Amino acid sequence: MSSLSDFTGKAIIISAPSGAGKTTLVKRLLESGLPVKFSISACSRKPRKDEINGKDYYFLTIAEFKTQIQNNSFIEWEEVYENNFYGTLKSEIDGIWNMGKHVIFDVDVLGGISLKKYFGKNAISIFIKPPSLKTLSERLVKRNTDNKESISSRIAKSKKEMEYIDKFDCIIKNDELNNATKNIIGVVEKFILM
Ligand code: ADP
Ligand code: 5GP
Repeated sequence: MSSLSDFTGKAIIISAPSGAGKTTLVKRLLESGLPVKFSISACSRKPRKDEINGKDYYFLTIAEFKTQIQNNSFIEWEEVYENNFYGTLKSEIDGIWNMGKHVIFDVDVLGGISLKKYFGKNAISIFIKPPSLKTLSERLVKRNTDNKESISSRIAKSKKEMEYIDKFDCIIKNDELNNATKNIIGVVEKFILM
């Protein structure tokens, strides 16, 4: 019989250009019944409508974020967009593993590469690939959470981010949502049983 002392906590890293469907697929993984829990990042952008501090992100001011950098609180952090800082807090991980759950990260592409280096074989890095940049742009417009300027900077960044796709362990194409959901659940389930 297995017990918590046999448990090895793993890391599931989900990265993609903004709008590819990370948040949607992470939500589905969290609802799948697999023993996984979301690592809540810190960020310095303002909350969107419906986002909750301490659930979606820890929303900090830029000054607060910089203090956390100086305190060495992050495993990794990035200025993902100009003056918008995002970072993975060291304090999140042990709490999740101590509950006997594997930790899921939703991070940008550079953050994903850093986390894979940090966790090594205990991590799987998954790149969510949008069907095309045109679809990505349509999804961002339809999501209706960003102004035109923010959408343009996200699309400009996406082109660069796609160049890193080969650095990831696995690629999931998010074309038809139910299909992508089935694929990602399959990949994560296999990895955590390894
Ligand atoms: P990200 O977290 O990568 O920025 P989201 O999960 O917020 O992306 O998805 C961007 C938008 O696209 C959301 O409005 C979401 O509902 C929608 N979306 C996600 N996956 C699909 C899909 N397979 N087909 C159509 N729309 C999708
Ligand atoms: P959004 O503003 O759409 O919530 O997120 C913007 C980008 O920041 C997304 O690509 C998201 O995955 C990324 N992100 C969220 N948290 C972190 C983090 O802790 N570290 C890094 N590097 N990126 C993050």
